[in-house]
Formats: sequence, C-alpha cells, structure tokens
Amino acid sequence: MEFSLIERIRSLTEQSRDDVRLGIGDDAAVLAVPAGQELAVAIDTLVEGVHFPRGTSAVDIGWKALAVNLSDLAAMGATPAWALLALTLPEPDQAFVEGLAEGFAQLAKPHRLALVGGDTTRGPLSISVAVHGFVAPGKALLRSGAKVGDAVLVTGTLGDGAAGLHTLANASHYPVHPERSAAESKGNVDSDYRSDARDVLIARLNRPTPQLAAGLALRDLAHACIDVSDGLIADLGHICTASGVGAEIDASLLPLSPSLIAMYDDASAQQFALTGGDDYELCFTVPMNRLADVQSDLSRLGCGVTRIGRIVEGQGVNVRGVDGHWLETAQAGWNHFA
Ligand code: ADP
Ligand code: MG
Repeated sequence: MEFSLIERIRSLTEQSRDDVRLGIGDDAAVLAVPAGQELAVAIDTLVEGVHFPRGTSAVDIGWKALAVNLSDLAAMGATPAWALLALTLPEPDQAFVEGLAEGFAQLAKPHRLALVGGDTTRGPLSISVAVHGFVAPGKALLRSGAKVGDAVLVTGTLGDGAAGLHTLANASHYPVHPERSAAESKGNVDSDYRSDARDVLIARLNRPTPQLAAGLALRDLAHACIDVSDGLIADLGHICTASGVGAEIDASLLPLSPSLIAMYDDASAQQFALTGGDDYELCFTVPMNRLADVQSDLSRLGCGVTRIGRIVEGQGVNVRGVDGHWLETAQAGWNHFA
C-alpha cells in the first residue's frame, strides 16, 4: 500500500512502549517479552457481510476488529501488549483507512496496546488483527479446567449483540414486547425510548467491550473461562468438551439488558441470550467456595456478574426453561461455515 496510508495508520495509533524495540516501518517488528512472562497470542478476521453488516462505519469496524481479539486475551487472563493489522481493501480509500485506524486507536489507547506492524492488500473488505499479551507462567485461564460442582457465571448481559444485528436486518419489523407495543399504541410511551434501546443494542453489536479487567481478576479464581463470541450454548459447550463435563443452566437466570427486554418479547430475548453471537462477555466456572470472592472482586471493578448454572457430570449444555422443563438445545450457536 501507499506509504502515506501506512504512515497515517502509524500516527493515528501511536503508542510508546519500552518493549517495542522496533515498530511499524521495517520488514518485521522487534519486541521484547518481559522476563518471566508467557506470551498469549490470538488472531481473528472480520469479513464484511459475515462478521459485520455491510454499511458498518469504518470507525466501528476498526474498534470491533481489535475488540474481538482483546476479548480472546481477556478470556485467557492475559494483559494485551502488541497487535498486527492485516487489511484487505477493495481500493486504497484514505478516509476509510483513517476511520478504521481511529476506531482501533480508541480501544487500543486505554489498554496501552501498540500496533507494531501489519500488511495491506487489495481485495474484498476484510480485517485481521493479531494480538499478543502477557500472562504469568502457568496462570493462563483455560477452557479445560471446569470441575463437577463448579458454578457457571457470565459477566454483563447476554443477547444484545445478536439482537442489535436482528434490528439492523429487520429495520421496520421486529417482535416487540407486547405490553410495550400496547402502551405505545395508546401513546403512553415516548417512542424515543425504543429508538434509544435499539441504538444501545446496535452499539453492543458494533462496539463490544472486551472484559480484560474481569479476565485478570479471574486468574486465581476461575477453573475455566471462555469469551462468548458464538453464543452461550456453543461457547459453554466448548468448556464442557475441553473439560470432559456437562453444564446445566437456568434460562430464568440469564442476565438480560433493559434494552433487550424493551425491544423483544421474552422468548426472543431468551433465544438471543442462549444462542446469539457477538456478546464478548466472559463465561467461566468457579468452585462454589469462591463464589463470594468472584462477586465482590468483579463488582469492585464495576463489572456485572451473574450465576446462571452449574457444572455436572456428563456432557453438553442443558437448559432448564423458565417453566422448569428442559429445553431442546440442539440449536447450537454460530456455525462458522453455515
Ligand atoms: P514488506 O513488503 O516488507 O512486508 P510492507 O510494505 O508490507 O513491507 O509494510 C511496510 C511496513 O508497514 C511494515 O513495517 C509493516 O508491518 C507495516 N504495515 C503495512 N501495512 C500495515 C497495516 N495495515 N497496519 C500496520 N502496519 C502496517
Ligand atoms: Mg508485507
């Protein structure tokens, strides 16, 4: 790519770090891993029309491309340090690249993450970010440590990102909470309320917040951890498979946001929370005797946390519906090749 575009990316994402011996500009970056730390590395690609809808702003794409990667580091209990950015663009569009770099920088700066290199090619729009973080030896949070009897918890609220995508795809037609729509038709509810709720859901889709502080706090507490990117059932299922256990969750305990509840009927909200992707919250298991520590440590961070179920013998995730009956959960989460 033109030197000037790379230079714009470099200056918009500038972050000085002593451990970056050589950043953007040479054939490779040269980085110093702090003594006594292990590296946690991850890469994720966002493809237009697959991982974000066509029409998403450059700033949002830049933010999200980094956020989904930082979420993977959060799930490992790692502290982010460096990133690489591989951009495929249909054409060299300066305004787009600047927007992207700005969104990236808005999330990178508060975490002191340095963009140390990348690659730029021409083709259908896609963005890959690779992140590198540090974790004390042997301290990384794995999917494989869940034990029978553990409590299953999640940070934040579930289903908002998938609901945001749904409202975008069905701009004028979506299932509305029946009491709310009745109240609205009587003129009792400010119609701005629903458009605000809709904006919140779309922001949750486009600007997910990686739960890095929570991931760090969980390093000495959680037995197993994963970030919810493909849907709760699918991702908790990964913990179960890796740990050789099963899980039972209670649909009535799922943490739902006020915006999700305002916009959707109960069945849709529950469906989004169980199977919708793009939440980027953490799902983790802790021994029952550490439950109070988790609640107090995470609430001190201002991070909401909800116990939704427990780890049991067996395999797979079973969900008890609000009526007390077990649900059919063959409807797994996101399938990469569907
Ligand atoms: P080379 O051909 O040696 O790989 P490039 O021309 O691809 O070099 O890149 C020149 C420098 O700019 C390298 O340091 C590379 O890491 C950096 N770079 C290229 N594209 C990006 C990008 N999208 N974001 C950040 N750095 C980039
Ligand atoms: Mg190159």
